[in-house]
Amino acid sequence: MKTKKSQKLYKKALTLMPGGVNSPVRAFKAVGGNPLFIAKAKGSKIYDVDGNEYIDYVLSWGPLILGHAHPAVVKALKKAVERGTSYGAPTELEIELAKLVKKAFPSIEKIRMVNSGTEATMSAIRLARGFTKRDKVIKFEGCYHGHVDGLLVSAGSGGATFGIPDSLGVPVSYTKETIVLPFNDIEAFRATLKEHGKEIACVILEPVIGNMGCILPRQEFLEALREETEKYEIVLIFDEVMTGFRVSFGGAQSYFGIKPDLTCLGKVIGGGLPVGAYGGKKEIMSFVAPEGGVYQAGTLSGNPLAVSAGIETLKILSKASTYKKLDKIMQHLEEGLKDAAKRAGIKVKFYRAGTMFCTYFTETDVIDARTAKTSDTEKFKKFFWGMLERGVYIAPSQFEAGFISLAHTQKDIEKTVKAAYEVFKKL
Ligand code: PMP
Repeated sequence: MKTKKSQKLYKKALTLMPGGVNSPVRAFKAVGGNPLFIAKAKGSKIYDVDGNEYIDYVLSWGPLILGHAHPAVVKALKKAVERGTSYGAPTELEIELAKLVKKAFPSIEKIRMVNSGTEATMSAIRLARGFTKRDKVIKFEGCYHGHVDGLLVSAGSGGATFGIPDSLGVPVSYTKETIVLPFNDIEAFRATLKEHGKEIACVILEPVIGNMGCILPRQEFLEALREETEKYEIVLIFDEVMTGFRVSFGGAQSYFGIKPDLTCLGKVIGGGLPVGAYGGKKEIMSFVAPEGGVYQAGTLSGNPLAVSAGIETLKILSKASTYKKLDKIMQHLEEGLKDAAKRAGIKVKFYRAGTMFCTYFTETDVIDARTAKTSDTEKFKKFFWGMLERGVYIAPSQFEAGFISLAHTQKDIEKTVKAAYEVFKKL
């Protein structure tokens, strides 16, 4: 694999940007190497500046569920750009996207568009605090909710990879209001509410943890969260930035049949453009400015390009046949990878939720952050580089989910499984 041009660009980038990147995990630090610089992408493939082609299971960390540069999205974007890139005023497009999101997420009675997942979770927490007039927040180990100050405690994603439980620059007084609990642990949750229930504004979680690989919730755990938060009048927030339109059309809440009070979205609803959103019960959303006293705003919020790409994406996802097709692709990959590991005589744990997945190099059942950390990250590193050399691009960290798209073909899956078998055999 030739990477001369990527290496040269990386050297230059290092002189201009911290770590040479604009977001930490991109730097390949967790796998001990230099990042690839990307030139273009189409369908299921991504191409680096040296002309190497890879089957892409990162998909810009989840948004590109239709694959890269889907013709309908490209067409909508071209049309939108001709009409101007931003107005800072309401548009009919925003109404259309709001309606499409509501159709998939009936728990969202009213919605506010923002520009990233981080903005969505940060705003939802402010709203929950404003609504309940309480300060404390409960989060779960391994869940990442963007780089919100008060939530950078036991977060997954880059935090998990780098072993930074707390970021520098976050005052202790901010995280003092955050209580961190183990995921899937009903007893710990109940005990905490017994003691602090009346001080807690909200409970926020990734209903399937995608920022620690792919950790599934126990159905009873989600049910207990719903039941107890209702009892103590705590706002239950599902951070579905990653799981939204990925675990199912209606996200994890539809799949597990649990209705949160607020939902955070991002990634897929922007079709690959910068976007985020939060929404939920009318009664709570009426606290958002200008209707209510919780301030939140954005120069580019509801941006016509992002909204246009989102509308096209959600229109295609709204077709019944789409998820059947996605499910078939994912099932094919799941069976192939499990079989490859078995044939190669290597013990792995494979988890999947809709179109998200993760392979852990452990014999332990992964149910929370602690068990996820039993995965052999040295083996993962070798797996990552072995797959890359064979033309398969997976996230450069054990603690990230993999994603498939509608553009992944039978041939892509077969090539991926063949590569995985070869690499598994070497581990
Ligand atoms: N919440 C979750 C569950 C996420 O996965 C992410 C990003 N990976 C975020 C929030 C933050 O989103 P963004 O990077 O768009 O700020």
